[in-house]
Amino acid sequence: MAEEAIKLGGKRKSIFMDKVKKLLPEGGNLNLCLTCGACSSGCPATGLENMDPRKFLRMAALGMDEELTSTPWVWMCTMCYRCVYACPMQIDIPALVYEARASWPRETRPKGILGSCDMALRNQSGSAMGTPPDDFVFVVEDVLEEYRETQPAFKDMEAPIDKKGAHFFLNQNSREPVTEPDEMVPLWKILHTVGADWTYGSKGWAGENYCMFLADNDSWEKIVRTSINTAKELGCKVFLNTE
Ligand code: SF4
Ligand code: SF4
Repeated sequence: MAEEAIKLGGKRKSIFMDKVKKLLPEGGNLNLCLTCGACSSGCPATGLENMDPRKFLRMAALGMDEELTSTPWVWMCTMCYRCVYACPMQIDIPALVYEARASWPRETRPKGILGSCDMALRNQSGSAMGTPPDDFVFVVEDVLEEYRETQPAFKDMEAPIDKKGAHFFLNQNSREPVTEPDEMVPLWKILHTVGADWTYGSKGWAGENYCMFLADNDSWEKIVRTSINTAKELGCKVFLNTE
């Protein structure tokens, strides 16, 4: 499919132009973008909505704010940062994508991401599934008991929750305790086998953070703070992000 030509409508006042400049190294010289396309070559969202990271950056540089803040492509970027690693000038395109997302009124952002973020704000788990702390504790204890009874090699295995002074604080993707509880066990087994001193927290145990993908800074921060504060209160030394 042939690419549509970018139409320029004369000189425009751009909020993105300023942001792009901040994202460029060494004083924000837009000419630092070599238009080499390395960013686009490995981007999983290249070609969707007739967009790619190089085109997105060039449109920002040309002041095409209206197009940038209305294209649904920004919600297809996975925030994987591949483009940044590939870019010879280390231009931070996902940060620009994030700004474009944040410009959408909250209620118009994609329903799936919005709903998962709102669910995570419902209780202190931070879980996109809305699982409350008590339910998480129940599932972990239940699964642990089953494995201790049925697998003698792991009869002493632990899956601690809120263990004071544990070295590692682990989080957990919240889909697993709800839909695939057995999927939590391989990691427990590894930690048991190597003798790691670890714990989950009953608060802030959920590892995913859809509020970040939603470009909702306040909610993103709230969820991260709940996790970090729990780890600090328990006196853990290392935060292990399993997501
Ligand atoms: S990889 Fe970097 S320098 Fe090359 S086109 Fe993309 S943003 Fe520009
Ligand atoms: S961060 Fe976004 S734009 Fe960059 S490579 Fe990943 S999906 Fe593409």
